[in-house]
Amino acid sequence: MIIVLKPGSDDAQVEHILDRVAQLGLKAHLSRGEHRTIIGLIGDEEKLQVEPLSAIPGVEQVLPILKPFKLASRELHPEDSVVDLCGVRIGGGSLAMIAGPCAVESEEILTEIAQQVQAAGANILRGGAFKPRTSPYSFQGLGEDGLKILRSVGNRFGLPVVTEVMDPRQVALVERYADMLQIGARNMQNFNLLNEVGQTRKPVLLKRGMSATVKDLLMSAEYILSAGNPYVVLCERGVRGFEDSTRNTLDLSIVPNVHGMSHLPIIVDPSHATGRPDLIPAMACAAVAAGADGVHVEVHSRPEEAKSDGAQALLPTRYADLVAQLRKIAAVMGRTIPRCQGVKS
Ligand code: PEP
Ligand code: MN
Repeated sequence: MIIVLKPGSDDAQVEHILDRVAQLGLKAHLSRGEHRTIIGLIGDEEKLQVEPLSAIPGVEQVLPILKPFKLASRELHPEDSVVDLCGVRIGGGSLAMIAGPCAVESEEILTEIAQQVQAAGANILRGGAFKPRTSPYSFQGLGEDGLKILRSVGNRFGLPVVTEVMDPRQVALVERYADMLQIGARNMQNFNLLNEVGQTRKPVLLKRGMSATVKDLLMSAEYILSAGNPYVVLCERGVRGFEDSTRNTLDLSIVPNVHGMSHLPIIVDPSHATGRPDLIPAMACAAVAAGADGVHVEVHSRPEEAKSDGAQALLPTRYADLVAQLRKIAAVMGRTIPRCQGVKS
């Protein structure tokens, strides 16, 4: 249920409404926009009666939230959410440029890549320490050693870092080293994991499952939001289709689709979506033109030596050309790519 307040309602009225709502045993989410104040109510449907709520002074309208995702819905939060990652803002016109290797392999290689992507204009460094591999015989990641390398290289180049967490039991460990927790496509509906990252206050990069609908994705975001963590960034990384000349099928329409339904930022990962370095730049440009809040690209300086996803890695020089192009498209779209301000930790 949404309570829309009358224009110009004052703090005392808002407080009064919040008190009444608390007495009814409901959870309130206050959203103060430039023109309107909205209070979203989440709780027992039985208690969500329109009549008594409409009678509270200052209330203009009481409306049901029709979508099954409530906290993620645009109805509840009309303004874009902006997620701040150590000074790098994602959403509301500010674009995340996430880049780095698929996996953290060594301090030397990550340093080489980080130096080049930072110079190119990346504002967030990525690298997996826990890798979800299809085969149990493939490289599984360096675990905590990988997290230590990622943290130290991120600090050295003043880049916030994002890395995947695969298991609820790993959340406390990954949280100690990372600025942003990635939930991979294969775990998008691991509800225990979503609850666990929802208990933290670290921004979460939630990747779309390979056969998840937009509604499924938003319902997964709802798990994190309802557990108390408001910092969620969605990521389109392609879905499974019949086409086999690309790794997955990029669903770019999800960007304006999500922007219509939700206030959460959504970025695009053309690397896992196409699996092909020759297609990544065009799809990254299309993503920004479609209004994406950022682009997530796998970059490797020695792709032939990479321990995972080497074949889809973009070379650092090509990444630099891409960011230069993205800046131009961003400017046309009235958006900016912020330079990272350095990390606090
Ligand atoms: C990754 O980012 O390296 C990854 C495994 O992505 P996804 O979960 O989208 O496959
Ligand atoms: Mn990868």
